[in-house]
Amino acid sequence: MIRLCLFVSLWFIAAAFAADEPTLKPVFGTLRYVEYIPGELPLVLSAPHGGLLKPKSVADRTYGVVDSDANTQDLARRIAAEVKKQTGKSMDLVISHLHRSKLDPNREIKEAAQGDKTAEKIWQEYHSYIEKALKKAVARHGRAFFIDLHGQNHKDIRVELGYMHRVADLAKPTQVINGIDFRQSGSIQLISELNPDVPYADLLFGSESLGAMIEQHGFLATPSPRMTVPTEPYFRGGYTIDRHSRAAAHVAGLQIEANRIRLRDTPENRQKFAEALVQTLRVYIPKWLKVEL
Ligand SMILES: [Zn+2]
Repeated sequence: MIRLCLFVSLWFIAAAFAADEPTLKPVFGTLRYVEYIPGELPLVLSAPHGGLLKPKSVADRTYGVVDSDANTQDLARRIAAEVKKQTGKSMDLVISHLHRSKLDPNREIKEAAQGDKTAEKIWQEYHSYIEKALKKAVARHGRAFFIDLHGQNHKDIRVELGYMHRVADLAKPTQVINGIDFRQSGSIQLISELNPDVPYADLLFGSESLGAMIEQHGFLATPSPRMTVPTEPYFRGGYTIDRHSRAAAHVAGLQIEANRIRLRDTPENRQKFAEALVQTLRVYIPKWLKVEL
């Protein structure tokens, strides 16, 4: 009887560990300056500019932008929590904990770390976690959607969707935008390849584009049917999206820039935007990337 009890208890302990899948626990890089939360969906999100730590052991950056994107770390975590709530599953999240005055993960290494050896190491870890997350998602689902999450404070309050296209390029005639060269220079080339009959301009600012869907949830966005060509200033996407959103790697993605007002300023507003964005992605990703979320 004692033996049976022991066996049953051991079985329960083993079952508890199996249920709490170790792959879903956060993993930290050197000195806990990068956090990687592994997931199980075809969705990966990185938050490069929401870090708060300013350790003296890492030199201050002396050129480039050094201001953080306030509350974007919290917004990223709310998006991940909302994904879990709506789908029952976890998404991959990569977070830089270093303040942007110490490291800018969204620049090539020279400008990002400015020669500081620790910052260079953290930069490498940050991007290798993104790579690992995307490779895992592609191995499991065949393709992945990648978001690099930022914040801006531009006067025109809107979500800026950066597909790597400049304002001047988005202003070109539709037939140029629909050309092969144009879509090959963007970060959703994979979506275009998966939907060969859909003109590329429709993917950028048509009635079922990401901008259109976000606007349907009550947040202004650009590019969108309402504003096909963003007014300046506009962030078109940076190093991280350029490096990791490649059709050849089966990844489509974009830089999402959330305005401070209405989207990032209060916990309630961050929650509302997180809910709207996840509802949007649950329609957008199955429709265009043809994988379930
Ligand atoms: Zn940023």
